[in-house]
This record gives sequence, C-alpha cells and structure tokens, in this order.
Amino acid sequence: MAHEDCIFCKIIEGDIPSAKVYEDEHVFAFLDISQVTKGHTLVIPKVHTKNIYETPANVAKELFARVPKIANAIKKTYNPIGMNLLNNNEEPADQSVFHLHIHLIPRYGEGDGYSSNWVTHSDDYEMTDLEAMAKKISDNTEK
Ligand code: AMP
Ligand code: ZN
Repeated sequence: MAHEDCIFCKIIEGDIPSAKVYEDEHVFAFLDISQVTKGHTLVIPKVHTKNIYETPANVAKELFARVPKIANAIKKTYNPIGMNLLNNNEEPADQSVFHLHIHLIPRYGEGDGYSSNWVTHSDDYEMTDLEAMAKKISDNTEK
C-alpha cells in the first residue's frame, strides 16, 4: 500500500523518476542518487514499511530473497572487489527516508567513497558478559 508523502512509494508508482535496476511483484531496486560508489543501489519492498522494526517477516523474506541476484548483477556489471550491505533504522542511525531500504554499496578499494568507523571493544567483554547479554536479547525475542 502506497504511503502518502513517501518518496520511495512515489518512485515505485513512477510519480518520481528513478534509474530502475530491478522490479517484480514484491521488490523495486534503483540507483541511489548519492552514488557513494559506482553502482550504489537501493532495494526496497513494494509494501510501505517504515524500517526494520516494523517489517513483517514475509516482507523481509521477499526483500532479502532478491538481494543476492541484484548484488551479483552489480558485481557482473562493475567488477567491484567487494560489496557492503547497509540498512539504517531511525534518524540517529542515519535513516533519512522512512521506507525500508537496503543499500548495496560496491567497493573498489581505498578512497572509493565509502567508509565506516567501526571500533572494536572486544577487550571490554569476557565471554560471561557476552553470554549474559545474549540471554537478555534472547529472552526478548518474540517466540
Ligand atoms: P538512508 O539515509 O539510509 O535513509 O538512505 C536514503 C538514501 O536515499 C540516500 O542515500 C539518498 O541518496 C537516497 N535517495 C533519496 N532520494 C532519492 C531519489 N529520489 N532517488 C534515488 N535515491 C534517493
Ligand atoms: Zn513508502
């Protein structure tokens, strides 16, 4: 169902132009205008869902099922040496468009435009700490 004022719903409807990479009954994929790296693509469900928290399992299933073939099409086209998948949820985590989307960011080496500031804190945790944390999350997982 199209969501009023959602630019990605408008892209699916064809009301806003996009460079379409792939489309079927469940999924639409198009080039991200920011082109962080060459071939940077967004894969979105046709059903409007705000982000991962609000996404029903069947919508996630259909969405992720298409990601490998779109990733492989980008790989075949531009021959990147790697690829990052990225999904931002909520503003503090850099979500700027509130229709679920997966970024496919092909990588070409240092200085290719993409960077992540990934800091490891492995020295701060013992296995017992990790087990206690994992149990809490596990207990909060919907059965
Ligand atoms: P995020 O910050 O994860 O919510 O990503 C939103 C992405 O949508 C950004 O990378 C934008 O460049 C991209 N974007 C916004 N508007 C358009 C548009 N009309 N066509 C293609 N990509 C868009
Ligand atoms: Zn939408």
